[in-house]
Amino acid sequence: MKDPHALPTWAPRVRPDEIRRLYHLDAQGIYNDDLIADVGYGLLARCESFIRANEAVAGRARCPACGAIVNHHTGKEEVLQCACGWSLPWADYFATFQHKQLSGAGPVITLFQDFVERFPRAQTAQQRMILIDTLLHGFHWYFKTGEPTRPVAVNLIDLRLGDVMAFLDELTYGEQSTPGARERKAEWDTRIVHARSWGRQAPREPVEPA
Ligand SMILES: [Zn+2]
Repeated sequence: MKDPHALPTWAPRVRPDEIRRLYHLDAQGIYNDDLIADVGYGLLARCESFIRANEAVAGRARCPACGAIVNHHTGKEEVLQCACGWSLPWADYFATFQHKQLSGAGPVITLFQDFVERFPRAQTAQQRMILIDTLLHGFHWYFKTGEPTRPVAVNLIDLRLGDVMAFLDELTYGEQSTPGARERKAEWDTRIVHARSWGRQAPREPVEPA
């Protein structure tokens, strides 16, 4: 093994300019297969990292050397040890994804898992675009009240929370946009009102179950 104490790596968030270009073309009825694939697989890798980080927090860390799942108790002093010979203190493992927008509760995991499963199987550019659009307009939900708290785009696009809201607001739509895109945007507009009022109550990170 090259490094018996290798750190896990996490896919970065997708660049906003690529997404802006995607919507600009989509509004004109143009599907650019390469751009859809670049954005889609970038989002897919990010969703996978998000799911893995949450699995790790739940006690199932993936070994960066061989890919096996290392079960653990998330104890501060605990050292993760894989059968392949790799080992790392849990605190060091956790530090690689802390404060990197890789944390969320069940509904977000389900949304991301759905994208990971469906995007590679989509048959047409239009189907891929609908999956991307649905993913980008998803929300975190507060489990007690069932209200939207913040857009999941903050976990997927390389922007701060306030900027990501403005970014999604300003995406281009037109007569030729992918079916459903403007309806999803209208629904997002309603939910973002809730999310903004939530943000005023808790200006930092809203509390969610781990
Ligand atoms: Zn291993």
